Amino acid sequence: MNNDLDLPDLLPARMVNEYAYCPRLAYIEWVQADFAHSADTLEGRFTHRTTADEEGDLPQEISETDHIHARSLWLSAPDEHLTARMDLLESDGSAVTPVDYKRGAVPDTPERSWEADRVQLAAQAIVLRANGYACSQGVLYYAASKTRVPIPMDDALLARTRALAAELRTVAASGRIPPPLADSPKCVRCSLAPICLPDETNLLAAHATAPDDGIRRILPARDDAIPLYVQEQGARISKSGETFQVRLKDAKLGEARIFETSHVALFGSVQITTQALQEMCARGIPLTLFSTGGWFYGIAHGMTHKNIELRLAQYHVAADPALSLSLASQMIAAKIENSRTLLMRNHPSPPADALAELARLADAARTAPALPTLLGIEGLAARTYFAAFHGMLKPRNDPQPQPDYTFDFNARNRRPPHDPINALLSYAYALLAKDLTIAALAVGFDPFLGFYHQPRYGRPALALDLMEEFRPIIADSVVLAVVNNAILTPADFLRRGPAVALKPTARKKLIQAYERRLDSLVTHTLFGYRISYRRVLEVQFRLLARLLAGEIPAYPAFRTR
Ligand code: SF4
Repeated sequence: MNNDLDLPDLLPARMVNEYAYCPRLAYIEWVQADFAHSADTLEGRFTHRTTADEEGDLPQEISETDHIHARSLWLSAPDEHLTARMDLLESDGSAVTPVDYKRGAVPDTPERSWEADRVQLAAQAIVLRANGYACSQGVLYYAASKTRVPIPMDDALLARTRALAAELRTVAASGRIPPPLADSPKCVRCSLAPICLPDETNLLAAHATAPDDGIRRILPARDDAIPLYVQEQGARISKSGETFQVRLKDAKLGEARIFETSHVALFGSVQITTQALQEMCARGIPLTLFSTGGWFYGIAHGMTHKNIELRLAQYHVAADPALSLSLASQMIAAKIENSRTLLMRNHPSPPADALAELARLADAARTAPALPTLLGIEGLAARTYFAAFHGMLKPRNDPQPQPDYTFDFNARNRRPPHDPINALLSYAYALLAKDLTIAALAVGFDPFLGFYHQPRYGRPALALDLMEEFRPIIADSVVLAVVNNAILTPADFLRRGPAVALKPTARKKLIQAYERRLDSLVTHTLFGYRISYRRVLEVQFRLLARLLAGEIPAYPAFRTR
């Protein structure tokens, strides 16, 4: 993707292990600085708990009588371009022995070890030797079988280790991410599978379609963490142990476990303590800020994602009108098609002329010759769709009709909305923009630089770009659900002159319906597996990243059947 990146001089020994396991894994972790925990890596962290704290001395020179038992050592060898963090170093005499802790049992291989583990240990030995220590063997400790496996540091292993390290440096300097492994069982155990998307990338790169029963779903179907919304005016969020506490004066309104919190969304005058904010930054939990009425105006998060390679590619494409147009065309065509699908699903007798017009406009969007043309097509499609939108609202039988607040919808209006449906749509779009901004940041994009929406101060243009394909199937669908299922009634709205706003209880119900929608499973039309809409949002950004890396030929905008 980019070969102008300044790579670090020192390659961590752990990366030699990753490269031996899968070159793409090492590239994602070392060059793109992306990482994700899985059950396996968390278990690995647990295995290392006894070696994590630095302990014990390693003298500059050791003698026959020294008995060294040092934990968590960090040494580098600039001439070898290697750096190594060692779990444990032992010596009984003048030579040292690095001990590397591995989760899992002793492998059933002739060497009783994996090559990836051996080369990592050998990289540690190379670093030790470069620092003047004699090291003729290392030990792999397999925690599940509580077994030490000695590994001789022979010339062949050291040469293989140096060759792998050199190869990784060459691959990293090329700026081209290695392709995913093909149908490999390694991917199933790889914590980076949700980032790498191996089968999805291979499928799209080959211009293939998934078999009838879909491709492997290696990524989890849902997220375990959920958002914490706080809209009680005057409330305060603080950290207490492993929880976020929400209080109003002395009354406790609720709490959320920190490790189960995906992000925190504050509406209006809600305070948060510095300690809570620090914890959120440390754990990568973003804070989103809304006005009381639901205007999404800000986000706070920890250090920006380290994947500068991705952002450079994003800036490059955003600066190229033709590339930007080809991306935007796919997004707008998908938006129009998804609007049409929603009409067909929810309208008791979808107007044939509107369906035909939307089909025509989706085709036109795909081949739009310029951005202004695409904008015109999108505007026309929106008018066609919203003109038929009221037909998707079930007629109401209110015992006491309130003419002012009936769900009557003729056209989209906003800032401020003039009727309840527009108020609901605006609110739902703000929630969706928030989630797409978070997803963009999580993947490593700059959410403020888009391909369709032009840069404007404070506007998350890239999030709004990807939002296009999801507006009908997430936000509009939620609005239809709360109205048609009478979750909200006309009594849930306030009139303020020409404007209409949601009462606080109504906002809460809308947020709950929206979160239920994001958590619901949908069959991915390209891959055939079922994942939550929330996952789909992230997958779309990951696929966009794969496109910008040159791995797949086109952006596969999300379409629903
Ligand atoms: S998911 Fe598979 S291809 Fe991707 S990094 Fe992991 S092992 Fe490599």
